[in-house]
Amino acid sequence: RPRLSEQAMAARPMPYLDGLNPAQREAVEALDGPVLMLAGAGTGKTKALTTRIAHLLNTGQARTNEILAVTFTNKAAREMKERVAGLLGQTVEGMPWMGTFHSICVKLLRRHAELVGLKTNFTILDTDDQIRLLKQLIAAANIDEKRWPARLLSGVIDNWKNRAWTPETLPSSEANAFNGRGPELYAQYQERLKTLNACDFGDLLLHMVTIFQKHDDILTKYQTWFKYILVDEYQDTNVAQYLWLRLLAAGHRNICCVGDDDQSIYGWRGAEVGNILRFEKDFPGAKVVRLEQNYRSTAHILAAASGVIAGNEGRLGKELWTEADGGEKVRLIGHWDGDEEARWVGEEIEAMQSGTRGRAGMSLDDMAILVRASHQMRAFEDRFLTIGLPYRVIGGPRFYERMEIRDAMAYFRLTVSQNDDLAFERIVNTPRRGLGDKAVQTIQTLARQNGVSLVEGARIAVESGAIKGKGGKGLAELVAGLDRWFTQLRAEDDTHVEMAEVILEESGYTEMWLNDKTPEAPGRLENLKELVKALESFENLQGFLEHVSLIMDNDTDDAEEKVTIMTLHAAKGLEYPAVFLPGWEDGLFPSQRSMDESGLKGLEEERRLAYVGITRAEEICTISFAANRRVYGQWQSQLPSRFVDELPADHVEVLTAPGLYGGGYGGTAGDFGASPLEDKASRADAYNSPGWKRMQAQGNLRAKPSPNEARGLVIDATAVSSFTQGDRVFHTKFGYGTVMGIEGDKLDIEFDKAGAKKVVSKFIVPAAQ
Ligand code: ATP
Ligand code: MG
Repeated sequence: RPRLSEQAMAARPMPYLDGLNPAQREAVEALDGPVLMLAGAGTGKTKALTTRIAHLLNTGQARTNEILAVTFTNKAAREMKERVAGLLGQTVEGMPWMGTFHSICVKLLRRHAELVGLKTNFTILDTDDQIRLLKQLIAAANIDEKRWPARLLSGVIDNWKNRAWTPETLPSSEANAFNGRGPELYAQYQERLKTLNACDFGDLLLHMVTIFQKHDDILTKYQTWFKYILVDEYQDTNVAQYLWLRLLAAGHRNICCVGDDDQSIYGWRGAEVGNILRFEKDFPGAKVVRLEQNYRSTAHILAAASGVIAGNEGRLGKELWTEADGGEKVRLIGHWDGDEEARWVGEEIEAMQSGTRGRAGMSLDDMAILVRASHQMRAFEDRFLTIGLPYRVIGGPRFYERMEIRDAMAYFRLTVSQNDDLAFERIVNTPRRGLGDKAVQTIQTLARQNGVSLVEGARIAVESGAIKGKGGKGLAELVAGLDRWFTQLRAEDDTHVEMAEVILEESGYTEMWLNDKTPEAPGRLENLKELVKALESFENLQGFLEHVSLIMDNDTDDAEEKVTIMTLHAAKGLEYPAVFLPGWEDGLFPSQRSMDESGLKGLEEERRLAYVGITRAEEICTISFAANRRVYGQWQSQLPSRFVDELPADHVEVLTAPGLYGGGYGGTAGDFGASPLEDKASRADAYNSPGWKRMQAQGNLRAKPSPNEARGLVIDATAVSSFTQGDRVFHTKFGYGTVMGIEGDKLDIEFDKAGAKKVVSKFIVPAAQ
């Protein structure tokens, strides 16, 4: 197919080039050969990439099916298609190879499945299937699953796949993984998958890399087929993805990657920012384009983001500037607790929507709340439901759709009504009680024959001894539990919060997650605690269940304007006029894990996440933190995040929550700057204000954790201030200390910095050990 002559090309209108700055234009017009666009947030990398695709099509350099364009999410791929069409002013007939690494690899693998021992119609396992399979293998290998859980193994295997290691190419350095049994189980797992004609997510890439490496003819075919390769968010590619790209581009070298080392936030999932740095080595003579003008955010927002990221070492270092005028400073506000924070954000959103705050004409679609940890979402979801504010949750299930929440809710539903068969089916063998498919069938048959609910069917099975052994015993305990909980709740239905804890504990459900050693388990326990916490605002369990069914029903109309709630990780590449960044507290953001780690790697990744968060905002950026949050079931007094200290004072306005502190913590950006909140103790001084103390004096001091709380099971909401000798505590003025003695309501405390003092107990809050 002849290419368009230069003349003909020039004759085609290319209005899409007019909107670009010279550097972007250079990246768009350098169609042949390797191009690396390395630039900070909001500088128009994605725009340039999209325009490049339009240019390739418009000049006839490539047809739609000859362009391989990798984006980070399917949503981004859809948007890119729309934008290309928009730039060309015409509909673009399918862009079949525009999508995520996974979606593209599935298509390729279907064509060549037989080369890795699969059939074309192979199935893709989800995480649950994967875990179930690994459990079987672990049991068959006589390994104690309690000590070496399947979830741990699945993490190990995913990690190997991200590094493109097959069982055959696994390096000897991995020999000790999973108590030395990892490599052998990995090989067995891959064999099982083949027998099942299945693969997991990691396999999609791994198999394609293997095929390309072993079959030259196939590799050559695709090298010729995909004339141009484009990759967005290149900083977050893992080794397998990188190898795959390098193989495909090795022929013509027409590869254009765009990325930002400061936005590399998937290191924990095997992404290697080093891929960016290697680009020029892998593709000698690459054109490297740097973009410096930010088109997204106002000057204060950009300066705040730049100030924070400057704390990282070993950056490639990029200057960013904007023509947009200063706009509003980044706003910073402290709250009493997470619920207060959600309440305040809800009010702000309503004010912006009605035009009393910010510029006129803001829609809910223009606003986003970006959280560090998904358990933070619950407070916002509940609050927004209460005030009738429409919202959507992007990336990951909404709080009440999560597995552990659904499981727990099934227990609650059954406690309220034993007729709830769906709930019974969900939890009959969760946690495992030795009730397999056969036992469940027996229960179902008995229920049907007698025209009763499954719980009644189970009761008959128990009484008649229809199910023997471990399963029979487990079922008897479950039925007895359901009866007991029902009776207890009937007797006193306002004890539902305590009852919820009892149910989760006695059913063995909490225990199940406590014994689970996988990385997700703590998050799930945290979510369960959030759930119990949510119950506090309802009079009884029934009312709560109704509230939740309303929430679940609330997301049908997507045309409606909605506030977006999502994690910082999911927000990559997106932009919103107004962004809320809640929960900037040490231990939450940066995460406790990153703070406990030796070295700075984890902390630097968290800082990049902060940079990603701030740079999503176009006009209004609000950062908040709370003084109290439950961490592992205990109320803890939180300290503002170290990232709060790193915000450049000139670009930050410190707000006072109206009516909350009565003019307490607050003041101006100047004050904030004049006394930088340097270390933990001085950051704590932020709370040292009359308003803050008044809040504390109003009670609400949390009780000493019960043994269950210490295990992380119980949320204590009672307002008693009882301390015992040896307790770690926190005082607004004197900081952290240890209780040495107690005299009525006065405590003798040895403060870490301030020394021994006698203080009134109501000014003291419990602190982490
Ligand atoms: P991120 O690193 O966050 O992914 P990015 O570099 O991909 O950011 P884009 O999303 O492409 O940035 O662009 C940011 C915003 O700036 C978009 O709204 C885009 O339309 C706008 N923009 C980009 N380039 C220009 C330009 N030359 N003139 C005007 N607006 C532009
Ligand atoms: Mg982008």
